[in-house]
Amino acid sequence: MWKLKIPQKAIELHKNYFMYAVVKSIKNAEVDKNNEYEVKVHDFLNQIISAQDTNNSNEKITCEDIAVGDYEKLRLFDSKIYSIIKDLNKENGCSENNEYSSFLNSVLKWFGYEEFSSLSNVNNVSRSIYHYIEDLYGDGRYDAQGNYYGWKHPADMKKWLQNWLNSKGIELKNYTKKYFEEWLVEVVFNDITIENYKGSLLEKIGMWTPTVLNILLNIKVCPYCNRQYITPIIINGKQLRGDLDHFIPKSRHPWLSMSLYNLVPCCHICNSRLKSNTEITFSDLAPYRDNVASQFKYVYDEIEGTIEAKAIDNTNLKIKKYLSLYKINETLKYHTDIPRKIFLRLQAYPYGYVQGLINQRIISEADRKSIYNDIIGCPLDEKDIDQEILGKLKKDMERQFRKLLDAEADSYHDEIDARADLK
Ligand SMILES: [Zn+2]
Repeated sequence: MWKLKIPQKAIELHKNYFMYAVVKSIKNAEVDKNNEYEVKVHDFLNQIISAQDTNNSNEKITCEDIAVGDYEKLRLFDSKIYSIIKDLNKENGCSENNEYSSFLNSVLKWFGYEEFSSLSNVNNVSRSIYHYIEDLYGDGRYDAQGNYYGWKHPADMKKWLQNWLNSKGIELKNYTKKYFEEWLVEVVFNDITIENYKGSLLEKIGMWTPTVLNILLNIKVCPYCNRQYITPIIINGKQLRGDLDHFIPKSRHPWLSMSLYNLVPCCHICNSRLKSNTEITFSDLAPYRDNVASQFKYVYDEIEGTIEAKAIDNTNLKIKKYLSLYKINETLKYHTDIPRKIFLRLQAYPYGYVQGLINQRIISEADRKSIYNDIIGCPLDEKDIDQEILGKLKKDMERQFRKLLDAEADSYHDEIDARADLK
């Protein structure tokens, strides 16, 4: 809900992956020579890969733009692909035929999204370790065509790994190759969370998977609905994670299926049940560009006992589409207990009381954050609402009640003062 910031490390890892795996996959793609869409679009992609797109510099698209470019770059790339498609539609006098749908399926394969999203296998892990060693020692191993062909001596890799494990106090037993590889996956893909990713072998070797994207973005709750946990865990080689949404749907825009700005970790309901194939455009509210949370607020009706998500600016059609798409109001029916609980807790622990405890040094200023979190059930810092289920709702309720309770506290103190004056 709050604008997500992609860290530099994620940009680098994705770019590396794209330049290695995706570019190679596009280059070696099987193109149906009888399908004009495939032939023309593949030619265009090849021009980009070999940096031969000779348009003027503002309109130029590079491989890097497709990999890690922002929404403006992706919009430009998308429109270029569509102009090729439209020309062909005109020539053929039709569109959306079988030829076109098989073309869409092929492009998805060319970009290799399935490989990226599935669990990384032993080869993948080993390859990353090779790359890491290569980076360390600058020992490039490419054949004449520029294809990487791996570390020459598996024993060298084992030796490097042994040293790394020794430094961590982990024992490397004398396994056969098969068991060694199984064991390797278990070591690399085990017990990894947002909290301990840093310093893990997975981080060290720079593996790139959807789970690592979620870890680096540091989001625990679905950024669309703010209602479901998507906390990633890698355990015994299995990656437990939420869905990976394509903001601009990959079914109709498969050429954007491996673009970082188009990949959004989110919950299954938002991705597969609500968003599904809804046509989303680059103008819609986008997670890596817009602060959705600041464009609406939750309002509690104390008489009816209902909550409503309202656009702050009633003419803002984008936020209205957002609230309707993710069924924000409809799902609130399950959460009407939250405002009541927060109200009662705020009454039991008024702000003055907590401040008093701090003043009397019973609790420290640093404890304020966790006490606040316990009372309201949401983070103190507005920017952290994506770390807590319904964090935005809780925050807005607190704001609504604070006004009410502060007013009550004021009139109570006025009354005390008035009584004192009478005496
Ligand atoms: Zn969701």
